[in-house]
Amino acid sequence: MITPLIHHDLHFNSYGSYLRRRFGCRVSKVNVDGGFTCPNRDGAKGTGGCIYCDNSSFSPGGTVPAIPIETQMAEGMAYHRKRLGSEKFIIYFQKFTNTYAPVDRLHDLYSRALAHPEVVGISVGTRPDALGDDAVELLTDLARTSYVCVELGLQSMDDRILQRINRGHTLAEYLETVERLAGRGMEICTHLIHGFPGETHDDFLRTAQLMASLPMDSLKIHQLHAVKGTQLAQWYYEGRFIPLQHQQYVADICDFLELIPPTMTIQRLYGSAPQAIRVAPNWNLKNNQMWYSVVNELKRRGTWQGCKLADGGLHVSNL
Ligand code: SF4
Repeated sequence: MITPLIHHDLHFNSYGSYLRRRFGCRVSKVNVDGGFTCPNRDGAKGTGGCIYCDNSSFSPGGTVPAIPIETQMAEGMAYHRKRLGSEKFIIYFQKFTNTYAPVDRLHDLYSRALAHPEVVGISVGTRPDALGDDAVELLTDLARTSYVCVELGLQSMDDRILQRINRGHTLAEYLETVERLAGRGMEICTHLIHGFPGETHDDFLRTAQLMASLPMDSLKIHQLHAVKGTQLAQWYYEGRFIPLQHQQYVADICDFLELIPPTMTIQRLYGSAPQAIRVAPNWNLKNNQMWYSVVNELKRRGTWQGCKLADGGLHVSNL
């Protein structure tokens, strides 16, 4: 039996459906570049960056976006209005570490995004070790009147893998940050990657159990993939990174979803890179093709998000 929060056709709780339920119309996320840097590249935490980071346009000193965010927003909103008929927007500060600047600069950028009448909120991508108390207070303040989502990159819950991929933070730092953010009126999203060398299927499912135990609102997951010019691409050429097969990834994602509470929304299940810079894997899928690979597998199994929780996810049926 599928619970009310699980989209009937999808067998999981998609973020798009959630936004439609919450705001009563189609809501799109519009990416903007706020001109941030990353402490794992500018020397504050490290200089090499994560081994998979595509940093071709990384600018170590920059805190001013090349194009004003209002211009970026206008272009992104026009695109989504035309392509999807979106009526409201969430401005997504995506590139690099979007809380890594003095709080007055954060206030200026976030407030300018929220000032647009069709913008219902912001989403802020960051690292667990880059959220000072002043940034948390600012986000708490903004969450009183707008939708605010903090997207935390964890990627792996295994400290040995975090070290190997040069993340520059630990699981403990992530858990502490989740605790600091919880209960403040903002949503928390975690970014995960599946397919690291040394990660087993059981490790990935343990990550699902960890997520299920946390005050997590949404998840973004994608397969480990290498793009040109990264250390991961070098690992691939040397045979140290063997990408998952498409069918294996789909099966693992379904196993994962079956362990995630139906209240948690799913923002992403797949990552793709333009053909010109893609090294591996080369599945050559569009986003919705992966989406439907997962949907079809859940349907084939007759399962859904949360069905393997103790109560089969039915604890939400009264919501
Ligand atoms: S934290 Fe993000 S921006 Fe920074 S090095 Fe890693 S992937 Fe790149």
